[in-house]
Amino acid sequence: MTKPKLVASVLFTIPVPEPFDYAIEPDLDVQPGDYVLAPLGARQMRGVVWAVRDAGVQDEGRTLKTIEQQLPVPPLSASCRDFVDFVARYTCHLQSVVLRMVLSTPDALVPAPVQVSYARSPASPAKLTAAREKVLQACQSGSFGATELARRAGVSVGVIKGLAAAGGLTTTKASADQPFATPDLSLRGKTLTASQQHAADALVALNKGDAFAPALLDGVTGSGKTEVYFEALADVLARDETAQVLVLLPEIALTQDVLARFEKRFGAQPAQWHSERSMPQRRRVWREVAHGRARIVVGARSALFLPFANLRMIVVDEEHDNSFKQEEGVLYHARDMAVARAKMANAGIILASATPSLESLVNARSNRYAHMRLAARPGAAVLPPISTIDLREHSPGPGCWLSPPLLEAMDGTLARREQVLLFLNRRGYAPLTICRHCGERMKAPDSSTYLVEHRFSGRLVCHLTGYSRPKPKNCPACDAQDSLHPVGPGVERLEEEVRLRFPQAVTEVFSSDTMDGAEQVRSLIGRMEAGQIDILIGTQMAAKGHNFPNLTLVGVVDADMGLQGADLRAGERTYQTLVQVAGRAGRADRPGRALLQTHQPDHEAIAALCSGDREAFIGAELGLREDMGFPPYGRLAALVFSSLNEKEVDALSRRFVAAAPFVDGVDIWGPSEPPFAKVRGRWRRRVLVRSDRSIDLSALIAAWRSRIDLPRSIRLKVDIDPYSFL
Ligand code: ADP
Repeated sequence: MTKPKLVASVLFTIPVPEPFDYAIEPDLDVQPGDYVLAPLGARQMRGVVWAVRDAGVQDEGRTLKTIEQQLPVPPLSASCRDFVDFVARYTCHLQSVVLRMVLSTPDALVPAPVQVSYARSPASPAKLTAAREKVLQACQSGSFGATELARRAGVSVGVIKGLAAAGGLTTTKASADQPFATPDLSLRGKTLTASQQHAADALVALNKGDAFAPALLDGVTGSGKTEVYFEALADVLARDETAQVLVLLPEIALTQDVLARFEKRFGAQPAQWHSERSMPQRRRVWREVAHGRARIVVGARSALFLPFANLRMIVVDEEHDNSFKQEEGVLYHARDMAVARAKMANAGIILASATPSLESLVNARSNRYAHMRLAARPGAAVLPPISTIDLREHSPGPGCWLSPPLLEAMDGTLARREQVLLFLNRRGYAPLTICRHCGERMKAPDSSTYLVEHRFSGRLVCHLTGYSRPKPKNCPACDAQDSLHPVGPGVERLEEEVRLRFPQAVTEVFSSDTMDGAEQVRSLIGRMEAGQIDILIGTQMAAKGHNFPNLTLVGVVDADMGLQGADLRAGERTYQTLVQVAGRAGRADRPGRALLQTHQPDHEAIAALCSGDREAFIGAELGLREDMGFPPYGRLAALVFSSLNEKEVDALSRRFVAAAPFVDGVDIWGPSEPPFAKVRGRWRRRVLVRSDRSIDLSALIAAWRSRIDLPRSIRLKVDIDPYSFL
């Protein structure tokens, strides 16, 4: 303990409300952003210096602990610290909880482990056994770590070590976290079409000023948005040799295909950041990003929280995609936070989509974002015509889901040796299982959800919580034997029908249940691209980003599916998904088409799809939103209370609403029972808060919450800009 001259406020990643003050010893040069080790209680904790100030009157009489040491990592930039503060304030979370998202790989704060690699030595060892020969053979092409070399040679690690000791191998020591290859900026991209070049030039010009300059790159599927934003990235990287760029993709899009395109364009693999990366891989990316050496980062939403040294441009590809919304922990929308991040870093930002969100379109219309459009696909490729099959006229027949016109179209497509994609956004075999004897519907025991039958695994599964049980033989309610009956289709059931109808065709299912990890996804995409699959049955996993050159028919089995429910984005989401799915059909020189099976061919979203009149649809949707004062014309937040005790959650959520601030321009609805009134044994109540745009809804909710002391048995989840209303 010392009397301080300089005081540092250090933010830790444990959930405490604010930074702690520490004295800085004169021999330490501590600056804001530095990563430090400091005593907290009995422990030494890692944290980040949030501010440094001269000791003042407020410190008199205080004895402060001192900062123990600085960690060997470049400081967290001021713009990244501002971003942490912003996200915390906006989402109503503690700064420390948001900082934990930045410090997601604490291992990166200490020097990287040293790895020994082995190479052939010019000298030959005294004793050469058969195993040693294999090792020498295996390392002819380079140097390898012991485990890798042992694997290549098919010997034990002991053999490698023995051979090295005998002088047959040389050893070199290097950091396990090697830098990423630097992009080769002399490489050129594809020759752009006139309209692509126009958009690329506009993006480059927009970003010349190195200031916050948001742009919406709005181009039909396959119009070459990726090629266009590559040019903007290349320009930023070429102008400043320390510049770093970040491309956010929906997780599923992080396939080999996209990565290969980056590698081809920039002559180097980008650093990748997503949930399938191992801890050492993350540590390497984090460290290289912090040192400014990883210049191109491609990642899922959490890559936004990486500690970039000099972030100059962000691209949010498929910006409309709902998977950018984080629904656990700190609830944030990565697209919106990316815009904030770019603003704080004075960096460029490009939001790219074939079906931009209404939020982004309104920003473009009001000139807050520059708007670049690509209306056509390059070359001869045309967008597929979309038409409906009215299921009221063309019924598929009992227990079937494919109508006669769709079957006929499939027949024709297969006869031409082209591929079919059937889209049904429902995993499993059947969404509902009922007892034919007593009418019992199979529900999850701890949640108010119906169990979905998965024949693949023989289980009934809750898609919300992951709970599952084997499918019983008898009805659990009335004990009738073999009375449980599947209702409605899932992809597995559709597969059954397809195999029956098209026994000669090679049929595969593309859904998260049938794909175990990225490797399987890649392999399936490879088979589809190579034409080894005739009919692909897919959930939304199949709807995104893939280019299948021989796919000419897309059949949407249930176009009405997303339209039900009281979700403010139901129409928009259905429209976006179906445009994306239909966009899979017909590339390059093969025209494609999309057929939508629907009971509501006149629904605005469906009619707009068929007529291709996006503007009419957007106009109608925006009109509705404006009338209701909903986003993007107003703000919305959801407060979700939960407790193990239903009476308690009911009473306390009411009390909370009763204590609401009276502010003009704010509407409060609820508490009400959400569709999932119980999840994992906890009863839930939901309050929706709507406000005019001029109101700082996050601040209002934070102040409101601080007025009420909720018992620990109640959890309150604040969801600013909610996307899920379940
Ligand atoms: P989007 O991102 O708009 O869906 P992509 O950039 O993925 O479109 O382009 C779709 C396909 O067309 C890709 O295979 C891409 O390589 C190709 N492509 C786009 N523009 C050109 C071009 N100017 N010359 C040649 N191929 C192109």
